[in-house]
Amino acid sequence: MSRLTREAWLESHAYLRPVGELCARIERAAADLGVEAAPLPDWSACAADYREGVPLLASAAAALDLEPAGRMTLRLVVAVASDTAARRLASEASALAADLGARPDAARLVGEWLPGGEGLEPPSPGLLRHLGWTAASRSLGPVVRAFARWRDEDLWQRKYCPTCGSAPAMGQLVGVDPGRQRFLVCGGCGDRWRYRRTQCPFCENDAQRLTVLAVEGEAGLRLDSCDACRGYLKTYDGQGNEDLLLADWSSLHLDVLACDRGLQRRAASLYDLEPLLSSSGAQRID
Ligand SMILES: [Zn+2]
Ligand SMILES: [Zn+2]
Repeated sequence: MSRLTREAWLESHAYLRPVGELCARIERAAADLGVEAAPLPDWSACAADYREGVPLLASAAAALDLEPAGRMTLRLVVAVASDTAARRLASEASALAADLGARPDAARLVGEWLPGGEGLEPPSPGLLRHLGWTAASRSLGPVVRAFARWRDEDLWQRKYCPTCGSAPAMGQLVGVDPGRQRFLVCGGCGDRWRYRRTQCPFCENDAQRLTVLAVEGEAGLRLDSCDACRGYLKTYDGQGNEDLLLADWSSLHLDVLACDRGLQRRAASLYDLEPLLSSSGAQRID
């Protein structure tokens, strides 16, 4: 399949432009900060927890240091707070920066809060989650890639991310039968893991089939829904355009379509940015 650019996608999906550009601004700000990589754990110490289904970031045996991810997040919050071209975003980020800046242990607290920990009640949790995972996925990139090489996928097959424990944000189908495989995609740390083709990744019902709604002209994106729980997962049936089509924001219009059909989003989302988006008109989808 030919390579799709973000700009071409935004031209054919004009209603996604505000969210697409907001994400691009944040990604550029994160890229400018460089990467402070989290150190790799001792994999042999992680094996028992992995077999038990403990996500890597929650594993006491792995003892992963999340402070580098926390420090990168704090730097990103400060950078976004000074983005004079995006005033609404900057003012929310300023309030976050002031709140977090008052705590000497903020880097550690943010690092622990991101994968579902406690100890923080930030003024804009949706924005902090978005900025935090944008930064943390860069910090954790080497760990996520090394973990994927080390682990035996057959031993996981669970409905949550083996690295950070999040529910999937999207799915992907890869290859052709008989070797076709389904992966679940984490919207937070960026990991992908294999999952049974016919099982619902929310209620775990396996009726041997999911209802598929293929959408014309959407480059292989489709909705896979479960008749038991009415949950759905946006799924990219294809390869080559992962960066764009598995980004979740690029298919927010399919969430609207699913909602119109009475389906419920149970997938994790980093787009709990409603105040920011409604001010730019992104919620109006024709
Ligand atoms: Zn994850
Ligand atoms: Zn279900």
